[in-house]
Order: sequence, then structure tokens, then C-alpha cells
Amino acid sequence: MKQHIHCIVSDCHYWQQGNMCTANEILVTTDEFGSNHPEEVDAHMAAELIPQPAGDCMTTCCKSYIPQDSPYTTLDGVKKME
Ligand code: SF4
Repeated sequence: MKQHIHCIVSDCHYWQQGNMCTANEILVTTDEFGSNHPEEVDAHMAAELIPQPAGDCMTTCCKSYIPQDSPYTTLDGVKKME
């Protein structure tokens, strides 16, 4: 399955001109999940995570966001502190 992820979060490491996400995989969660789990919980763990409802789009977030100047090194779906 080929997907294109469009994103306007321009200070993310994976963001590219034209509002494209260049990550090979991302993890979208509820805001609550994103707030309560550390940075290291990301797309590479997706199969192990318990699905949960959000209720509306205002309570979802991209957990794979990483600032361009982040101290984490990034592989797709994996964040590791340098
Ligand atoms: S990882 Fe998430 S926040 Fe970053 S560009 Fe992709 S979709 Fe946007």
C-alpha cells in the first residue's frame, strides 16, 4: 500500500517542502496517549499498542513529530537519545 502523508507541521524533522511527511512510518495517537508516554514510544511499537477511541479529530496527534533541532537521533519510527 503506497500512501502519501500530507502535513503542515514545518518544524518537524520529517517535514518537507510541499507539506509532505518523509517518514516511512508514523504513529498517530490520542492526545492523552501522546502526553502520557515517552518519546521512545513510536511507530516501531505500533503492533504492541492497545487501540483506543479519540472521539474527534481535535484530540489526536502525530506521536512521530520530532523537532528539527532535537537531541534525539531519528530512524523512521524510532527515537533514541544521542
Ligand atoms: S512525522 Fe508527523 S508531524 Fe512530522 S512531518 Fe510527519 S506527519 Fe508531520
